Order: sequence, then structure tokens, then C-alpha cells
Amino acid sequence: MSDANSEQCLFCRIVSGEVPADVIARNDHALGFRDISPVAPTHVLVIPLSHHANLAEVAAAEPETLVAMVGLAGQIAVADGISQDGYRLVANTGAAAHQTVFHAHLHVLGGRSMGWPPG
Ligand code: AMP
Ligand code: ZN
Repeated sequence: MSDANSEQCLFCRIVSGEVPADVIARNDHALGFRDISPVAPTHVLVIPLSHHANLAEVAAAEPETLVAMVGLAGQIAVADGISQDGYRLVANTGAAAHQTVFHAHLHVLGGRSMGWPPG
């Protein structure tokens, strides 16, 4: 999607290849790349190829893309060997929830045990 927002958006620029990223998985609707500042042994971001501010907007506009994102996250968990022990999918939504990049993304976190509730 090209709109005024996407031209300046960091993750749109990763989709276009303008900004380099450690891309490890992709499908027709989504891209997976390692987080630049990992907080777990596996920390991968799964993003839609098209620009939406958050996961709820993806669900409303392109439900098939949401399915593709979750499916890709599952494949990444298998490939990184964390699917058996368990992993966490996180979608920070809004500033109060610590969303800092306003292009929808899932964090795929695993490779260590985690606490609950999250901070
Ligand atoms: P959030 O705080 O949920 O919006 O997550 C944004 C994530 O993007 C953070 O975990 C950052 O470390 C990550 N991030 C920011 N810039 C890059 C980049 N250029 N490549 C990979 N990950 C990035
Ligand atoms: Zn974007």
C-alpha cells in the first residue's frame, strides 16, 4: 500500500528493501526479520507487507494477512526450534503498551522462560 504514512515508515522501507534487515522468512502477505535489539534468544518481528498501524487494523482491512502473519510466526518458531518448549507472540498496540513503530507487527519471542504478567 502506498500512502503518505508508508513513505516515511521504517517497516515499509524494510519491505521495499530500502532499509536492510535480517529477513529469515516470508510469504505472500508477510515478512519475518530478526529484531535489531533482541530481548530473547529468538526475537523475530513478523510484519504485513502492506502498511497498517496495528494488528486490529490488519484484521479489519485484510483478514487473510492476519492469518498469514500468525502462520509465518508459527513456521519461524519451528525453524528456530522453540515450538516445543513454547514461545510468545506479542502485539504492542498503542503508546501505553510500548508500541514504538506504528506499522503492525508481531514479536515472536522464545528460547528462554518468561514471566507473567508482562511488564
Ligand atoms: P514495538 O515497541 O512493539 O513497536 O516494537 C518495535 C521493535 O522494532 C523493537 O523491538 C525494536 O527493537 C525493533 N526495531 C526498530 N528498528 C528496527 C530495525 N531497523 N530492524 C529490526 N528491528 C527494529
Ligand atoms: Zn509501514
